[in-house]
Amino acid sequence: MHLEVQNKKLNKTMSITKGTPNTDFNWEYAPAPEAKDHAKLKKQYDLFINGEFVKPNSKKYYNTINPSNEEVLAQVAEANEKDVDLAVTAARNAYEKYWKKMPAKERAKYIFRIARVIQERSRELAVIESLNGGKPIRESRDFDIPTAANHFFYYAGWADKLEYAFPNRHPQSLGVAAQIIPWNFPLLMAAWKIAPALATGNTVVLKPAESTPLTALKLAEIIQDCDLPPGVVNIITGFGNTGAAMVKHPNVNKIAFTGSTDVGKIIQKSIAGTTKKITLELGGKAANIVFEDAPINQAVEGIINGIFFNQGHVCCAGSRLFVQEGVAEEVISKLKARMETLIVGDPLDKNTDLGAINSKEQLEKIQSFLKIGVNEGLEMYQSSCSLPKKGFFCKPTLFIGAAQSNRVVQEEIFGPVLTIQTFRTIEEVIEKANNIPYGLSAGVWTDKGSKIFNLTSKLRAGVIWANTYNKFDPTSPFGGYKESGFGREGGLHGLMPYLKF
Ligand code: NAP
Ligand code: MG
Repeated sequence: MHLEVQNKKLNKTMSITKGTPNTDFNWEYAPAPEAKDHAKLKKQYDLFINGEFVKPNSKKYYNTINPSNEEVLAQVAEANEKDVDLAVTAARNAYEKYWKKMPAKERAKYIFRIARVIQERSRELAVIESLNGGKPIRESRDFDIPTAANHFFYYAGWADKLEYAFPNRHPQSLGVAAQIIPWNFPLLMAAWKIAPALATGNTVVLKPAESTPLTALKLAEIIQDCDLPPGVVNIITGFGNTGAAMVKHPNVNKIAFTGSTDVGKIIQKSIAGTTKKITLELGGKAANIVFEDAPINQAVEGIINGIFFNQGHVCCAGSRLFVQEGVAEEVISKLKARMETLIVGDPLDKNTDLGAINSKEQLEKIQSFLKIGVNEGLEMYQSSCSLPKKGFFCKPTLFIGAAQSNRVVQEEIFGPVLTIQTFRTIEEVIEKANNIPYGLSAGVWTDKGSKIFNLTSKLRAGVIWANTYNKFDPTSPFGGYKESGFGREGGLHGLMPYLKF
């Protein structure tokens, strides 16, 4: 079954299974960098409050960098409690004065306008997303920015149809929503939060993650260009304590948080005893399950897409692979061969598959998990690619022969690290897949529809993909079970957390 192939260029012996389509792993592509001169960044960004950019009361700014070369991109304001209060007050006034009273079809026009301008400026936004976040331009250009625009289009459509969405239930807006988002999909997460809130008639204070504020600030400029009534959307930057002040503010009616389970728990505690509504989208540790009857080449591509594209910075990343015993050897050798073709490097190069890890802190977290896996006695395999000298990069990594009790299996790594376990029966894999604190997503690869239906009813995950992975659509709800949080974003379900009945 097996061939030992000498890859001359890499001077390395590789093991591949007969029938692997491509044995020439080491194609070299000419660099294809995306131009960045059309992406206009200011040297310094203030807080977007009440329709204007204003200096922070804290008088403090911090540097936001490009994680692929550690160069400073801009300075960003740090909002303190006073700034948070100004933003929440602006949102409250806008709610009472304009937004609550505006006919829904007028509200919809503003949301459509935002969607259109995001589309028009998509090239610039994609470049800034990759510069600030480290993700490959292919991802930000083909996925993040178009999907962000689609969310605004989709929810603009709902704004004047809420009575049809929830017949005879007379849905009403809540008031001011405080929205806190992470660094892995900066503009897309802002869209997931802002679009349904505006469509349902709420006003917003949004805080992007400290390491990726720039596309949210560009969105603030877009919102200004779209002439939204002042204060309907406020975008403030800062660190964890800025987020904490938003959560605690007495004039906030609704909290929407996407981020780590640890911070989610802190937030839940801090609002105990209040009437604030809350949705939490937290961590994940998805099982990607490959059965013997699966189309193996497609499954290998889906596994690669599920964990390595986007550096594994995806809450729903397929970070735990379960392979049925009979095909384990074949799947692992094909995975290794495919990993050799992955290009790690400049996020702005159109050929890049894995860009930069978002921050030094995150890279150190991933590296500490690599040590943990090795110390747990697992076989570690990394592709032989070389990493850029500057910036934060990590090789795509496998931990082969993992067991349920390993920390690398149980804990969220949030990097390009895949653990591999084998299984014999459906019952065994369901038990193993569910035996984890998280329940955000899962993947199933099989030729049999009956197996898919059986698994989808038994896997405790909010989203399950069958014979594909990481597919998103604004019409489809997304969210978790257990420690992955509660509440849904996207689709009709995504309107509900912003309404009272
Ligand atoms: P994080 O540390 O929890 O931060 C998320 C956001 O919360 C950031 O804006 C952060 O500000 C802010 N924050 C930090 N401490 C806070 C506090 N005490 N009160 C209020 N806000 C606070 O998460 P992250 O490291 O940015 O993102 C990675 C995590 O997000 C992963 O665990 C991932 O699974 C999860 N995630 C989940 C989903 C989903 O849909 N379920 C989507 C994406 C990511 P700073 O940036 O200044 O710390
Ligand atoms: Mg953080």
